[in-house]
Amino acid sequence: MSKIQLLDNIEIVYKKIADAAIRAGRSPEAVNLIAVTKTVDGCTVRDAVDAGLRHFAENRVQEARKKITGDISRLKDAGITWHLIGHLQKNKARIAVDLFDLIQTVDTLALAEELNRQAQKSGKIQRVLIQVSLADEERKHGIPRDDFIGLLKGINGMSSLRVEGLMTMPPFFDDPEMTRPYFRELRKMRDDAETMGFRLPELSMGMSNDFEVAILEGATMVRVGTAIFGERVK
Ligand SMILES: *Cc1c(COP(=O)(O)O)cnc(C)c1O
Repeated sequence: MSKIQLLDNIEIVYKKIADAAIRAGRSPEAVNLIAVTKTVDGCTVRDAVDAGLRHFAENRVQEARKKITGDISRLKDAGITWHLIGHLQKNKARIAVDLFDLIQTVDTLALAEELNRQAQKSGKIQRVLIQVSLADEERKHGIPRDDFIGLLKGINGMSSLRVEGLMTMPPFFDDPEMTRPYFRELRKMRDDAETMGFRLPELSMGMSNDFEVAILEGATMVRVGTAIFGERVK
């Protein structure tokens, strides 16, 4: 993708974020754009940094490890953050703690315990989100709604993890309005947990196809790949 095209895309996405935030009576700054760089090459990531993007996400630890090295690793000092948004296996917890500022996909107590152990070893407080599964059929990853409070309580007692909020990935629909109930549900879960005394400021929800709806429903992080970098080549 040419740099011009990339700049165009980023500008359009920012504009849509701002418009949706304002429509929702929220400040555009309350929404963080997380650029999803899976399958995107390092050069293009560099261009995106030059264009002003600061938050990036990968869904595979191995791919992220290749990308977040050398040049790009030094950018951490420039306020760049890396997020893990794909399923994490326990045996990769150590590398994940090493690489990522925010791990968005914690969905079992066992994984949380391993992350806590690794974070403790590195002397790091690892920021995490709990991934919730709201689709009743074909549940792949994420904690089911009914088990969420239990997991939250468990993680809350871990000294090297800090839970900052919730993440979800609804099933794909062409019509973005179809995902609205999922976003609304995630927000309600968060609000209910806050009523119980937990603090969960972040809601990571919304992708290229539906981030505006997600913002209207309270998203504080939108994870956008295709709308910035174009269609992914497999
Ligand atoms: C790939 C991916 C995204 C971005 O999807 P786009 O439709 O390309 O914006 C967001 N979240 C997760 C978890 C992903 O795997």
